[in-house]
Amino acid sequence: MDYQAVLEEVADRARPLVRQGRVADYIPALECVSPDRFGIALTDLNGETYGVGDWEVPFSVQSISKAFSLALVLAQEDQSIWERVGREPSGTAFNSLVQLEWEQGIPRNPFLNSGALVVTDRLQTLTGDASTALLDFLREESGNPELSFDQAVAGSEAEHGDRNAALAHFMASFGNLENPVPSVIEHYFWQCSIEMSCRDLATAGGFLARHGLRADGTRLLHARDAKRMNAVMLTCGTYDAAGEFAYRVGLPAKSGVGGGIVAVVPGRCTLCVWSPGLDARGNSVAGAAALDHFTTLTGWSVF
Ligand code: GLN
Repeated sequence: MDYQAVLEEVADRARPLVRQGRVADYIPALECVSPDRFGIALTDLNGETYGVGDWEVPFSVQSISKAFSLALVLAQEDQSIWERVGREPSGTAFNSLVQLEWEQGIPRNPFLNSGALVVTDRLQTLTGDASTALLDFLREESGNPELSFDQAVAGSEAEHGDRNAALAHFMASFGNLENPVPSVIEHYFWQCSIEMSCRDLATAGGFLARHGLRADGTRLLHARDAKRMNAVMLTCGTYDAAGEFAYRVGLPAKSGVGGGIVAVVPGRCTLCVWSPGLDARGNSVAGAAALDHFTTLTGWSVF
């Protein structure tokens, strides 16, 4: 397969949609990103990465970080996380509180904000410094030692963080946090603020296409855990639009309100697309369209 040619065709078709979405405006630091940005990258099984457009421009990973913090917890052979977070799609917004009361403080899945807060809490216990551990992990897996936090985004998240603080306090009231709420939300804000490009994210997520192996053949995750992660990404990775995303694209994926989406073709490749304009559920409009075109052109969906 000529990956470069496929990516160029996909980009040509998706780019006209960049203005159809709305750039995230819940914090001032994200609001100022140009809606005209578009990039897409693909990492193959050998770790070779191809890209088009703004594929080397760093952006705010936001909720995409949730997939990597979960991977880092699972890489530490920690299955106990599944006693504290479920694996069911929620059908509610990523920052929703409602189901937490019915489920006694156990989030429906690790990709809701509530679920990610529990994963960050676990990572904090395992490493003593969750956000630094995650940044180090991403530097290592992406091969880019320059990755860093965006201080303005992290600060802005904290200033507008009442909802996430509420989620954390509510779970703490059920005994589902091991660390103090202020430290858990702080690490969560730092992790959301990490800046990476499509190239960095596709490369770092390559293990999901290789059944848990890195490009150099060393094992990051047990194959069983890579399968499980892909399953949860398919069913829960694109918020309350996961059903529609599976219908259109047919790949495990994790999106973020920075406009990035990481998608996995198990046994073949990992993709990352970025376009900041979002739909009403917080997924990149042109990004989802690009992945839709990709699976249509190649026939490579999991179905
Ligand atoms: N930082 C965002 C939040 O916590 C991340 C949400 C997202 O990307 N969906 O609200």
